[in-house]
Amino acid sequence: MIRIGLTGGIASGKSTVGEMMRRRGAVLIDSDQLARDVVSVGSEGLAAVVERFGKGVLQADGSLDRAALGSLVFADEAARADLNAIVHPLVRAASAQVEAQVADPYALVVHMIPLLVETGRARDFDALVVVDVDEQVQLERLMARNGLDEAQARARISAQASRLDRLRVADYVIRNDAGLEELAERTHAVWHQLLALRDGTDSCGC
Ligand code: ATP
Repeated sequence: MIRIGLTGGIASGKSTVGEMMRRRGAVLIDSDQLARDVVSVGSEGLAAVVERFGKGVLQADGSLDRAALGSLVFADEAARADLNAIVHPLVRAASAQVEAQVADPYALVVHMIPLLVETGRARDFDALVVVDVDEQVQLERLMARNGLDEAQARARISAQASRLDRLRVADYVIRNDAGLEELAERTHAVWHQLLALRDGTDSCGC
């Protein structure tokens, strides 16, 4: 099994690349999805969040009110650290559990993690793939996708690691500054390099 970290800035195209790799046969582990699962209704994670932040972070149906929690932690670094200290270990445990169920010894397991570099996990994988996009394109895609104005989009981008921080630790870089077809071709090229890495060959021979 080869363990691959996949990351990139907000709206860089991680999910799009992750899905392309999944279609090529990767086992895709989406840490954003797991982060939602670990605080689902009735979970140990949700109980811990309520204990720390109070019942005000719950909706009427007992599920997590993400907007309420988001506004509590957005401007308060200590609160954000507390939330991360609850959620991150649960997400790691859930990822490890999914990974432990992969029976195929030749599997390429792709861990898609938005804050991989920020959380110091760059060396936790056999290979690190970074989806890279210049800030202007990133800004436009983020504004279009999330309906944000420029100042809001810039604030979200600057709350993350810089492009340079990610590029410095990348083993493979997929540039996403062109269309989806080009992205598919570039993802395909990196996929072949990952297969070669798994097989211990310089080229995949396909
Ligand atoms: P987040 O970190 O916010 O979850 P992400 O890195 O997973 O984002 P995606 O959701 O894959 O990014 O892509 C962001 C947006 O940009 C989406 O609306 C997606 O459809 C679009 N997009 C991604 N790549 C391209 C491309 N090459 N051309 C046009 N649109 C693109």
